[in-house]
Order: sequence, then structure tokens, then C-alpha cells
Amino acid sequence: MNEFPEPEIIPRAFHPISRENIDRGALKVMYRLRDGGFSAYLVGGGVRDLYLGRTPKDFDISTDARPGEIRKLFRNSRTIGRRFRLVQVFFRGNHIVEVSTLRSASEYDLDDEVLPANNTFGTLAEDAFRRDLTINALFYEIENFTVIDYTGGVRDLRDGVVRLVGDPDRRLIRDPVRSMRVVRHAARLGFSIDPATWEAVLAHRDKLLLCPDSRLRDEMFKDLRGGSASEWARLVLRSGILDVLVPGYAVLSDADTRDLPDLLGVVDRLRKKDVTLPDHVLLALILLPWARRSMDLYRAPVRGQEAFLFSRNLRAALDAQLCHLNISRAIKEEITVLLASLPMVRSFSSEKDWPRKLRRKSYFPEALSFFHLVEEACGGPPAREISFRSPVRTGAGGERSPRSRPRRRSRGRRRAVDSPRKQGGIFGLKEG
Ligand code: ATP
Ligand code: MG
Repeated sequence: MNEFPEPEIIPRAFHPISRENIDRGALKVMYRLRDGGFSAYLVGGGVRDLYLGRTPKDFDISTDARPGEIRKLFRNSRTIGRRFRLVQVFFRGNHIVEVSTLRSASEYDLDDEVLPANNTFGTLAEDAFRRDLTINALFYEIENFTVIDYTGGVRDLRDGVVRLVGDPDRRLIRDPVRSMRVVRHAARLGFSIDPATWEAVLAHRDKLLLCPDSRLRDEMFKDLRGGSASEWARLVLRSGILDVLVPGYAVLSDADTRDLPDLLGVVDRLRKKDVTLPDHVLLALILLPWARRSMDLYRAPVRGQEAFLFSRNLRAALDAQLCHLNISRAIKEEITVLLASLPMVRSFSSEKDWPRKLRRKSYFPEALSFFHLVEEACGGPPAREISFRSPVRTGAGGERSPRSRPRRRSRGRRRAVDSPRKQGGIFGLKEG
């Protein structure tokens, strides 16, 4: 059965990918597979980024060798994955190259729960057509250094177009998260979105809710920390994806949400300086337009019992806003403190006016940092002193959530200090 078109093979002289830019480990893996009698291709985002002259985040390899055969070739490897077994090959310095056997279907395109006996190993063509986007479906091989293109990915890279592979409706129904991947790559690369793909994104955005909450959350944090959060914001607003992820957005007007790209633009600026903001800060920024409009945040009481009640209502309302993102209770508490303290910090016209009592509060450095982020987004000076007690990780990647660090002790301690009840109101500043 071969209903697939012939691929376009782009010779070395007609594409910009040079071996010099390919990770040494990935090249080693490819050569060893070839010497073992197997095929070996660089695939996915690695080929895309090299073609565009960007530095790939990771170099993934596909081969016709089966996982067991791959393991035999690489002693320093292990197998991961339940449905599709991948082999991770380890190199010095915690460096990992992932090797997968060519597949006939994406794990999300399969109906069955259990891995079928014949697995779903496939041909090169099948592996191309199970991928999400044409620009992610290219192969680079090391025999003749050609690029192999089954889906028109090279043309789309040249034209700057993000296009789903295959029938866009079918592919999004099979795996709705692909609509987030469409938006991510368009935002990150500054590409336009093919009209049929865009229509399908609009038509199927509600199906995102069929995906596990934790997958939606992880995908969203990837976008927020990827360096193009501002452009991402424009696209998730325009496509209505944000209305699905954070339900309160569905009732907001364009005017209410106009500054979200600027708010997240601050995140992008800090990311360039290797500052990765913790989860609760990113979520508080996303929720700010909603809190301003739906909770009337900027006119919220800033003192006494009313302030305490306001923050309690805000905390309760957050549950509905974050119900599709599997956010922990502790993070919701932290978001509440950031948002609820904003009208208080804003209520003083200058730093000199901040009462000593307020400055001494344990939450004050965070509240102040958040205020500075928001001020910067509104045209204020660049936020300089950023101090968030949850670790603000530094380093290029920023993919993993800072929450994944063990910090149980400090969390417990913080809750005791911050408890609004203990402080006699959210801000501990009683009237009079
Ligand atoms: P990044 O630079 O963010 O790593 P990437 O394109 O490499 O971008 P990955 O999540 O690492 O993204 O996925 C690797 C490859 O796997 C993709 O390039 C794509 O070909 C394929 N892929 C990933 N997710 C899906 C999906 N949901 N459906 C089909 N193919 C997918
Ligand atoms: Mg990748």
C-alpha cells in the first residue's frame, strides 16, 4: 500500500543545512546507526531550525532500527515511553539524543489504548504524514546530506507558512493540542498561518478541553517561557484559544485584553536576560485583564476587612478560571496574593509613600516586583529588581517549571507567614 506521493529530495547544494551546525552527539548516533546497517535521519524541529539558521533546542533522530536494536548499538542508553518506545542516548554533560523508530501514526492518532502487537512502526513517508506541521516533517540524511520533503515543508519554510500536515480538521480532531502547536510555531517563527489550518483551529478550539488538563498546562507554560509569549498572546486572543483555556476571557472585550501582549512582552524581555518567571507570576499576568474587568481589581478595597473579603472572593473566582489547567492550590494562593496586592501598591503615588508596615510584609517584595512588571508593560521603566520567592530560575532553557523543584519545607513555612487570617486581612494593614 503506497498512496503517498514521491518526496522532493533537496540536494546539499540547494539547502542551507550544514553538518557543522549539527550536534556532535546526534551525528555520532546517526553514523553508528548507519554503520550498523540502519537508516538514520535528523527529524522534526532540528531540521526546521537548522534550515532557518536558528539553533535547535534538541536534535531528534529517526531510524528503521527497532528500539531493541538501537539499545544494542548504544550501551549508554535507556528506553522510555509506554506507547511509543524511544531510546535516549546519553552523552557527557547530561546531554541526551532521542532516537525513535519511524512510525506510521502519532500516538494521538491511534484509537486503541494498548500498543498493538505489530507496534506502529512505519516507513519514512508514513512518519512524515503522522507529524503535526509540514515544517516539522522534514528529514535530513547523512549519506548524501539531502533534505527529504514529503509534505511541502521546504516551500512552507521559504514562504513562512505554518500548515498542518494532511486534512486540518481530521488532524485537529485527532489531537486538539495541535492547534496550540500551530499557534506556538507561528508566534515563535513569525510565520503566517495557512487559511485552511487557521479555519480548523477556530472550528476545533473547544476540543482542547478533551485533552488532559496537565497537557494543556504544560503546553501553555512552554509558550509562556518560549521567548515569544507576546506574539503568542495575540494569536491565542485572535483564535479564541485563550477563551477556552481561561474561561473568563470569553466575556472580555478587545479593549479589556489589549495589553496582554505587552504584559507578556515583559516576560519575553526578561527571558532574553535568562530570567524565567515562576508559574504563579506568569498566571497572574495572564489573569490580570480578567481580574481588572470581572473583579474590578483596580477599584478593589486595599485595607481592612473589605480587602480581606475581596481577596477571598478573588481566590474563589480563580478556581473557575484555572479549572482546565490543573493548577495546584498553593499556586492559586500565590496568584491571589499577587493580584490582590496590586491595587494596594498602586494606591501610593510614589515609593516614598509606602508605609513601613507594608514594606515589612513577607509578601511585599513579590507584590512590588509584580507591580513593576505591570508598570513596565504599561510603558513604565524596565522592571529591574525582580524578587520572587519561588525560584526565578536562570538559564537558557526555562522549559521545566520551577515548581518541579522540591520546596516543600519553604512552602509550608511561607503559608504560615502569609496566611491572610494570621495577618489580620490580606495586607495586614488595618484601618486606623
Ligand atoms: P521545539 O523546538 O519546541 O522542540 P519541535 O517541533 O521539535 O519544537 P517537539 O515537541 O520537540 O517540537 O516535537 C518533535 C517533533 O515531533 C515535532 O517536530 C513534530 O514533528 C512531532 N510532533 C510533536 N508533537 C506532535 C503532535 N501532537 N502530533 C504530531 N506530531 C507531533
Ligand atoms: Mg524538539
